[in-house]
Amino acid sequence: MKVESVRGMRDVLPAEVGLWQRLEREIRSCFERYAYGEIRPPVVELAELFSRGVGGDTDLVHKEMYVFPDRKGLPLALRPEATASVVRAFVEHGLHARGDLAKLYYLGPMFRYEKPQKGRQRQFHQYGVEALGSLDPALDAEVIDLAAQLMVALGLERQGLTLRLNAIGCAADRPPYKAALATYLGEHAEQLCADCQRRAVENPMRVLDCKQPRCRAVSKDAPHSAQHLCGACARHFGEVKTYLDALDLAYKEDYTLVRGLDYYTRTVFELCSDELGAQDALLGGGRYDDLVSVLGGPPTPAVGFAGGMERLVLLLQGLAGEDETRLLDAVLVPVGDDPAVRSAAVDALHRLRVAGRTADMEYMARSLRKAMQVAARRARWVIILGPDELERGEVTVRHLASAQEAAVPLARLTEPGVWPGSV
Ligand code: AMP
Repeated sequence: MKVESVRGMRDVLPAEVGLWQRLEREIRSCFERYAYGEIRPPVVELAELFSRGVGGDTDLVHKEMYVFPDRKGLPLALRPEATASVVRAFVEHGLHARGDLAKLYYLGPMFRYEKPQKGRQRQFHQYGVEALGSLDPALDAEVIDLAAQLMVALGLERQGLTLRLNAIGCAADRPPYKAALATYLGEHAEQLCADCQRRAVENPMRVLDCKQPRCRAVSKDAPHSAQHLCGACARHFGEVKTYLDALDLAYKEDYTLVRGLDYYTRTVFELCSDELGAQDALLGGGRYDDLVSVLGGPPTPAVGFAGGMERLVLLLQGLAGEDETRLLDAVLVPVGDDPAVRSAAVDALHRLRVAGRTADMEYMARSLRKAMQVAARRARWVIILGPDELERGEVTVRHLASAQEAAVPLARLTEPGVWPGSV
């Protein structure tokens, strides 16, 4: 019987891995330029971390989280997101005790039991940053700038990107705003979808991000959270926008942007692309000034964002030309089955690798002509070693792009500059 992969969880095959590796390099380098250091929390956490941190009545925790008991019955979860884990680690290791700003980033798999579709999977990969310890609105602008710069570094700045921005206020602003919103939604209940009729009572802000046209029509004229901010939150939002203007970052204020997780406060944002279809959010984030204390740490304001790698891969695949970096430096083709030739080939291959070249050998006993054809698809140079070459203590090195060939002494094979066509 054939065993298949789990629905919504896919293999990244070697042909695609080059793109993933490039992405991971660019993301790390960008995050490190902005002075964020990597943290690697585990993939499995206590389920309680997310029900307390993200919110027990969010879809993420309530419907989408993979929860299972360990062998002693302890409820564990595959992490659906990493902010709660980073905050747990921040509190557990007393990173706040240093009294400094903690700037952390992560990359890794997340798990959500969602309906799989283009750009949405059950195992997917997120990259993200978290800055814990400051309420400075310049830090909100910094994480947004970082997100935008990452798109520039990846060559995606022209992919119909829109930065959506909103302010949802602090814990004190929320109850009066929710009450105003619930009253408005109550007056339009018959126009809402069945889910939203329930949400309008239980969690009215969720109605604002429903995608149903009839609910959108109602949301359009709903009270805005940004009009229900206390003085401090209103000033904060004003300053964030001033810094974004100073950075020349265009944004669209979107009063329906509330994000799916309960921990957000004040600034929320999303970066979307026209090129992605229904799942158009590339990344999203905002402030979460109460999460550290909810998870048992001292009151610590914080801001961050998370983005999905799969969606970047989709955009980059749409743009990609021939990926040169996937080619090996050389494929070595031994000719015939003379044991002396084969031993010399095994030794030469080893020396190439030790010298730092990416190299492989023709192992499939193909004819020379066929082996050359296969090698031409895999490498930039082909190295041929037959009995005649061995007798002269040489190999023939062929540069495939220019068709230049040269005899190179075996002893000098790893020296720089001796291969034809090399720069
Ligand atoms: P969230 O943690 O829900 O704010 O999501 C942040 C980003 O992660 C989104 O903008 C997407 O790019 C990505 N993402 C979230 N859920 C999925 C999923 N199921 N499959 C692929 N990417 C996802």
